[in-house]
Amino acid sequence: MTDRRPLVAGNWKMNGLSAAAAELDALAKALADRPAPACDVMIAPPFTLLAPFVAAASGTPIAIGGQDCSHLEPGAHTGDIAAVMLRDIGATSVIVGHSERRQDHHETDDLVRLKAEAAHEAGLVAIVCIGETEPERDRDQTLNVVTTQLAGSVPDAATADNTIIAYEPVWAIGTGRTPTAADVATVHGTIREVLVERFGEDIGNGLRILYGGSVKPANAGELMAVANVDGALVGGASLKAADFDGIIDAYR
Ligand code: PGA
Repeated sequence: MTDRRPLVAGNWKMNGLSAAAAELDALAKALADRPAPACDVMIAPPFTLLAPFVAAASGTPIAIGGQDCSHLEPGAHTGDIAAVMLRDIGATSVIVGHSERRQDHHETDDLVRLKAEAAHEAGLVAIVCIGETEPERDRDQTLNVVTTQLAGSVPDAATADNTIIAYEPVWAIGTGRTPTAADVATVHGTIREVLVERFGEDIGNGLRILYGGSVKPANAGELMAVANVDGALVGGASLKAADFDGIIDAYR
């Protein structure tokens, strides 16, 4: 299967007060007024905005996702949010293993896999993030790192319907720097090979692989045209509807 429908996903990180709902409305308006893109669109706001965003996105093509979930069942875990709670509030997907969580919260591949499994259990699509740091890249370890992270972070029960991979070179996140198209092609091609080897042709070729790290309207066209790039995971440029819509333009 090669007819993968791309996804342009926005990760708002720890940004957005209630007034930010205006950006969601502006995005919904752009999607309604402009030619329909040949991609799915998702926004992952902070937990505090999930409920109003689910309500505001209702009846629009915008799906709402979480930025993280606990690997634990609901219960006595102060400050954590269970995957089933995200599902209950109307989220359809959740990002797990973002490099900021791997760094700030010492999340390991094992923990990320457990979170992805919790997401699956709750009926959420798990967007599993992987990517090398700058020192790893400088040591030519990129392909080893992403292969190891894939093996450790992606559940055995992954399918094209319940899992999306996001390749995000850590050094490209929020820095304005991006790999060359050729480098993106090499990494995404390797990820594809690893997925096909592990999950077989159908699932391996069906899983979407997003690119993330300083995606902007100005570079989205080039990056999204790379083989095995099935969309984008966007941070900073997802906060403003005009910028995000400009990235979605890659699929118009
Ligand atoms: P950025 O972040 O687009 O601001 O580089 C991407 C991400 O962390 O998902």
